[in-house]
Amino acid sequence: IRVSFSVINKEDGPINGLIAVLHDVTEQEQIEQERREFVVNVSHELRTPLTTMRSYLEALHDGAWQDPEIAPRFLEVTQTETERMIRLVNDLLQLSKMDKKEYRLEFQKLDFVAYYHHIIDRFEMSKGEQFDFKRELPNKEIYTTIDKDKMTQVLDNIISNAIKYSPEGGTITFRAWPVGKRLRISVSDEGVGIPKNNIDKIFERFYRVDKARSRQLGGTGLGLAIAKEMVHAHGGDIWAESKWGKGTTIYFTLPIKGIRESDRR
Ligand code: ADP
Repeated sequence: IRVSFSVINKEDGPINGLIAVLHDVTEQEQIEQERREFVVNVSHELRTPLTTMRSYLEALHDGAWQDPEIAPRFLEVTQTETERMIRLVNDLLQLSKMDKKEYRLEFQKLDFVAYYHHIIDRFEMSKGEQFDFKRELPNKEIYTTIDKDKMTQVLDNIISNAIKYSPEGGTITFRAWPVGKRLRISVSDEGVGIPKNNIDKIFERFYRVDKARSRQLGGTGLGLAIAKEMVHAHGGDIWAESKWGKGTTIYFTLPIKGIRESDRR
């Protein structure tokens, strides 16, 4: 703790008082430290695709552009890397907006179960052949107030991870059930899993169990950090359970606004 004093008095007049300000240096230093780390991380994240692109462009420039086999492949690499950098910068901008509380959620009340089915349908349409999608969802209408765009982003990030970090042919299980006044939602996979001592870190910015693998799969290391901010903004919690090598489950909760019987399936 640092202490600074200011004397309160009129010019040359008697001293009327003293102000002592206590600065919590440790907290300030920690914020500073985190900021520095963040800048280092961002720089590394951008440098990796940029150096990759530079070497591919150099090779093209040195003559590879004339090779009808190699040229399209090299161009494709630079394109993929550019796409990933754009995703990274968009994710960073979004996190920075959230940090500055510079965003408003457009809440609407809806039946989360129907909405969840809809999200899963969309993934099943594109990945249904490579993965087995299993739904264990209640036969009820469970109402929550959510910002649909933001919640879709949360689910997209979680479900894409389940797909990214799973072997083809694996089962991905979707569940939702009420626990008291909260709806608990989960996505389980049978993928690579996360080592036990790292499990909470996956919600931190840029943390990855396997950097190379995440990058290769087009990850930015920010998906779950964004999901966490969004879920908190909805008044919920998010956490993970995993067995290394066996699979992972991501859970999150949302306040329930009402439950109704349903004649759905
Ligand atoms: P990324 O873009 O790297 O996927 P995320 O923030 O979405 O970033 O996830 C952070 C890290 O958490 C990932 O790099 C990965 O190591 C781990 N992870 C997230 N979801 C899963 C999952 N379903 N199975 C295994 N590991 C996961």
